[in-house]
Amino acid sequence: MEDKYDVAILGLGAHGGAAAYHLARRGARVIGFERFTRGHDRGSSHGLTRIIRKAYFEHPAYVPLLLRAYELWRDLERESGRTLLRVTGGYLIGRRDSPLVAGGERAAREHRLAFELVENAELRRRLPLLAVRPDEVGLFEPDAGTLAPEDCVGAHLELAERHGAKLRFERAVKDWAPAGDAVEVRLADGGSVRASQLVLAPGAWIGGLWRFDPALLIERLVICWFDSTDAAVHAAFRAHRHPVFIWDLDGETFYLCPAVGDEGAKMAVHHSRVATDPDHVAPVDAEDVRRMSERARRAIPGLDRFLRAKTCLYTTTADEHFILGRHPAFPQVLLASACSGHGFKFASVVGEILADLCLAGRTALPIEFLRPERPELRRIP
Ligand SMILES: Cc1cc2nc3c(=O)[nH]c(=O)nc-3n(C[C@H](O)[C@H](O)[C@H](O)COP(=O)(O)OP(=O)(O)OC[C@H]3O[C@@H](n4cnc5c(N)ncnc54)[C@H](O)[C@@H]3O)c2cc1C
Repeated sequence: MEDKYDVAILGLGAHGGAAAYHLARRGARVIGFERFTRGHDRGSSHGLTRIIRKAYFEHPAYVPLLLRAYELWRDLERESGRTLLRVTGGYLIGRRDSPLVAGGERAAREHRLAFELVENAELRRRLPLLAVRPDEVGLFEPDAGTLAPEDCVGAHLELAERHGAKLRFERAVKDWAPAGDAVEVRLADGGSVRASQLVLAPGAWIGGLWRFDPALLIERLVICWFDSTDAAVHAAFRAHRHPVFIWDLDGETFYLCPAVGDEGAKMAVHHSRVATDPDHVAPVDAEDVRRMSERARRAIPGLDRFLRAKTCLYTTTADEHFILGRHPAFPQVLLASACSGHGFKFASVVGEILADLCLAGRTALPIEFLRPERPELRRIP
């Protein structure tokens, strides 16, 4: 058995990596384990872009966390010297009473965020490449934009190590057990470590690892990159030029991120409801591409050239809100599942919250609505 640590972390993706950084930066003795390689693409945190925004249609309770997340991403940029967050502005598009537009407006008004309701004719003028329907409007948010997920995870991991965290890659955790008021973490290769506290951030591999059983759906998602045969359309979507948008498109939540460079615009649909085993994800097939090409043709006809596609994983709870807080049965264990397909933008603040809970026993940020004990987590998603 290795030395005893203050905190062990299971999973070094978006949230485990952020926790390692915040804990190590505050002087904790940290060890982290990741079953795959550094920055791998088998979980939930790859694909070049993630949307970040504040007018949170999912629930206004997230807004205080988002305001802090923005600050922390900027801090991380300064400390790492990397550009992580690019503000493009963003639109929520749908009918005036759609959950996207009405929900975004509610969050923006409640928290006095900068936003603008854009009527149909003006929306068509501003977004001429989108086939906006006559009954649709847009909620424009100037602060929305994209994060670079691989760089965000990379920056957290690199700086965590610089602050003294020991991070072990290609070392899977087999299981863990309470050891008095501490915890013993057992590795698949036979090793083990002891730590005062354990952060569980395994993404889609929650399986039996949590010793706590919320109903979860592990979803297989497909993201696709498209470009245009028309030079003007190509130019409009390249290098962060186009605003991000999320669109209530015939009952599906369809979204787009502009290209980072020249690799094409990324589009996907939020939630597939297709259950998968995270170790055996079906590769992208012709039907996936056909369906996304058909959506692209309906929504953005100029993006007529399919480039490539990739799968990614959601860990979805019954109420589609995160699970964040102390384990109901083992107080020395912290649970972090900030997914349901919208958690990346929060990774910076989730890391800070996990460090608060480990080192101070509490956090000043409002996370009560995400507590693991809430009854809504028992329903089947
Ligand atoms: C297609 C797609 C689009 C998305 N778009 C957005 C968006 O626009 N905006 C947004 O905010 N969010 C978005 N999300 C959601 C966001 O990316 C996720 O919520 C976030 O990445 C989850 O991070 P995580 O740390 O929980 O999981 P991961 O980053 O997958 O990390 C979990 C890690 O734990 C490791 N692990 C698991 N089990 C073990 C073990 N036994 N031992 C050691 N290591 C282990 C895994 O290998 C993995 O590296 C999107 C997700 C997908 C899939």
